[in-house]
Amino acid sequence: MSAGAPMVTWETLELHTAQPFGIARWTHSVYPRTFVTLSQGGLSGQGEAAPNAFYGETRGTVEAVLPLLAEALTDPWDWDGLHAAMGTRMPHDHPSVKCALEMAAVEWCAQAAGVPVWRLLGLSPAPLPESSYTVSLAPLPDMRRQAREAVGRGHGVLKVKLGTGQDEDILEALREEAPEVALRVDANAAWTRARAKRMLGLLEAARVEFVEQPLAAGDLEGHAMLRAVSPVPIVADESLHHVSDVVALAQAFDGVNLKLAKLGGPLQTLRALRLARAHGLQVMMGCMIESSLGIAAAAHLAGLCEWADLDGALLLADDPYAGLNWTAGCLARPEDAGWGVARQT
Ligand SMILES: [Mg+2]
Repeated sequence: MSAGAPMVTWETLELHTAQPFGIARWTHSVYPRTFVTLSQGGLSGQGEAAPNAFYGETRGTVEAVLPLLAEALTDPWDWDGLHAAMGTRMPHDHPSVKCALEMAAVEWCAQAAGVPVWRLLGLSPAPLPESSYTVSLAPLPDMRRQAREAVGRGHGVLKVKLGTGQDEDILEALREEAPEVALRVDANAAWTRARAKRMLGLLEAARVEFVEQPLAAGDLEGHAMLRAVSPVPIVADESLHHVSDVVALAQAFDGVNLKLAKLGGPLQTLRALRLARAHGLQVMMGCMIESSLGIAAAAHLAGLCEWADLDGALLLADDPYAGLNWTAGCLARPEDAGWGVARQT
């Protein structure tokens, strides 16, 4: 099937959000993303590395380890071999680089088979759940405007970033601006146990669907205590870094936010998803701020999930990939061969 040796190349682009994007830890508007291409026998597969400093990655670490990890990609069909060879070269972390290489291998195979990746992997043809659209942390009038504009564009699910001293005011303001939307909350690990407990009644009153990562990533005991008294489900994001974390999280959370870039690629994310299901967890398919290439890869898996949070590319002013079919927050499952997106700039 394969002809000639595989060639792996990459290029880093600085992507920009249309508005500064703020969460409890930081606000940024420039996101370096490294795009990997695997070429072999006239076909190509692509992947995206979306490094996140919280998981120990930067543009510098991505560019430093890519030459070493790319050597692991010798046969695009040998997915277990790729995983093992990357683990041998870099046993710890660098998940976004591993993700980019796994994405490239899997897309190359789907191109060779002439099918979309979800079909290659035998995944559900179910429609994707509607994606949330993020209202990022900013001065309150700006958060109101973000919510108003999203509702005006037809979004029915909003995820609001919290973790400030004025979270009560933010929640109240957003419910005023968007009384009908499904509302989710992400504290990005910024609350103390006491603060989180005080917020629970307000979350219930605001009809919040679930709260993501209220406490510090390592505080599983605190999350378990919170879950025991919480009227709204509690979902892990920062607490989930490695596939193997899923089992322990089932004792402390109701659900998990799976992101390809932190778990090491689509195949590792599928492993995490199956583990989550086996342990009774609900599942959200999430994303980093990334191009439509990274979002497309997550979209191929999102039909297996209750929730989707795939707005990363919608927040960009200069998305270099096109091909996704959005109707407000509803993303159609990609039907073209491979990931179903193409480079446009
Ligand atoms: Mg989150």
